[in-house]
Amino acid sequence: MVVRAVTETYVRDRQRLSEELRVLGITDLAVLHAFATVPRHRFVPEAVRGRAYQNAALPIGFGQTISRPAVHALHLSLSDLDGSERVLEIGTGSGFQTALLATLADRVFSIERVPELADRAGRTLQELEIRNVTLAAGDGSGGWPEAALFDVILIGAAAPEPPVHLYDQLAADGRLVVPVGGAESQELVRVLNRGGSFHVETIDRARFVPLVGEHGW
Ligand code: SAH
Repeated sequence: MVVRAVTETYVRDRQRLSEELRVLGITDLAVLHAFATVPRHRFVPEAVRGRAYQNAALPIGFGQTISRPAVHALHLSLSDLDGSERVLEIGTGSGFQTALLATLADRVFSIERVPELADRAGRTLQELEIRNVTLAAGDGSGGWPEAALFDVILIGAAAPEPPVHLYDQLAADGRLVVPVGGAESQELVRVLNRGGSFHVETIDRARFVPLVGEHGW
């Protein structure tokens, strides 16, 4: 059957992408498994669907992009998820990382500034019967105080500086992963809450769209 053949092709593409991420140094088996199972092609526009399993960022409309798989894999690895976590994602975008998080954590809250992207991500997650996600449209730069505390906060857009105002939404032992900087240069930063004292680590260089909003650019 044609439909089945297409589905199987994507299965092989997903496995190949997962293997590529392993070769690039991703060691977290749960993260690799999530890439081998979550259908990235469902989260990108038709026009770029043929490239969905390449390790590449792709346009998703409204001037935004779905991040490169290696970038999502790094952020997820840094989040150190064991399936029990309550997670806040700021910048839902396509909803692909949201879906990965939904398989790797217990509960996911995700907020997106562009309402059309939030709607589209919501529809895709619903079609895939992913139910442990709560989405909102709006400025997420101030976090989601009503749903706090979070074990993990992931920000998918570059903030002007480490978001100190979000620290009180981070549970004990929580971690926050955020690119910090402007269009010229950014660094990926991880903040660890060690019993109320916050350790800031610089992980790598980064390149993200700007976080736009009250606590953004
Ligand atoms: N992980 C997502 C990243 C998308 S790009 C993916 O791979 O699909 C980052 C997203 O952050 C964009 O969709 C952008 O609209 C959104 N964004 C920027 N500023 C925001 C804010 N203040 N609140 C919520 N979302 C924001």
